[in-house]
Amino acid sequence: MNAFKPHLANVADYPYAKVDARVKLDQNESPEDLPADLKARALERLAKVSWNRYPELHAEDVRAAVARHEEWPEAGIVLAPGSNLLVLALASAARTVVDTVPAFPYYKGGAQAAGTPWRGIPLGAGFALPKAELLAAMDGEGGVLFLPNPHAPTGKLFEQGDVAELAEKARARGWLLVVDEAYHAFAGTDARPLARANENVAVLRTFSKSWALGGIRAGYLLASPKVAAVVRACVPPFCIPAHTSTILLTVLESPGYVKPLVERIRAERARLLEGLSRHPRWKPYPSAANYLLVRTPDAKAAFDHLLSHGLLVRRQDHYAGLEGCIRISVGTREENDLLLAAAASAP
Ligand SMILES: *Cc1c(COP(=O)(O)O)cnc(C)c1O
Repeated sequence: MNAFKPHLANVADYPYAKVDARVKLDQNESPEDLPADLKARALERLAKVSWNRYPELHAEDVRAAVARHEEWPEAGIVLAPGSNLLVLALASAARTVVDTVPAFPYYKGGAQAAGTPWRGIPLGAGFALPKAELLAAMDGEGGVLFLPNPHAPTGKLFEQGDVAELAEKARARGWLLVVDEAYHAFAGTDARPLARANENVAVLRTFSKSWALGGIRAGYLLASPKVAAVVRACVPPFCIPAHTSTILLTVLESPGYVKPLVERIRAERARLLEGLSRHPRWKPYPSAANYLLVRTPDAKAAFDHLLSHGLLVRRQDHYAGLEGCIRISVGTREENDLLLAAAASAP
């Protein structure tokens, strides 16, 4: 077969295997669904939409609503069916991609699919930001640096001052620093001021986590109009479906449910951390996100034990530096009680 570019000869599937379990704590989703009244309102609205017509070219209606919500110029916003697609668009446009190791796997996955050279810089001790190495990496010819903050999958929150140093270097060397804020709501942090002051910084956000809309597939980039225009050109036209737009417009009109939901998850995160810290062999790491990374003596044994109690978590021990680690999404109070009870007897 000579149809495809050589770099695609040995592509691997995204590292995810679906497993059924009673309690699902493996994908950092919101444990609560969208409030029923908002669901009903979105469905009512969807019935009035003409399904035979194409949606807007680049979800202009949703962009206007996001612009108001985020206080960001509409021309600097790119919507896509999931921020993963924006990672792919950015990785396709990039000369090179730099990222931390371990990190969210799709920065590398997107670069590999696009045939863009990729370089991973290992985190320091205690998952510290490898600032000196990242600064040095930007001495290269130019490219995109992906930085999740809070970091995935460690949950570590990097210092604003350190991120600002990376941003300054990006400006000096013509790189683009993409701060992936998939989990910022759970940390209370905000990279927008940095991006507002520096067109070499962009912010990636998603509806999948704190908005409780993982199944809807929507994320957006906040960038300068120039950067946004490039990324938009790498995203297919008409790719936000009418039903997605309808749901997004509904929640953007009534975003009040997000804050209390985030508060509940933060309180449960503290309770889980405290409870898991009592395990004699497990070491949960403090997290600024809606999940906890936990070091255990044996990730497979921990995973199997929890699954036998009906609890699905995510193994992370395939990453260098995360030997023995599992990642647990913060669930509802009841789910977390089940988790703590099962963990108490875990190896
Ligand atoms: C969950 C997650 C996202 C969100 O991806 P979507 O495609 O918007 O669902 C982005 N970045 C990180 C680091 C994540 O963990």
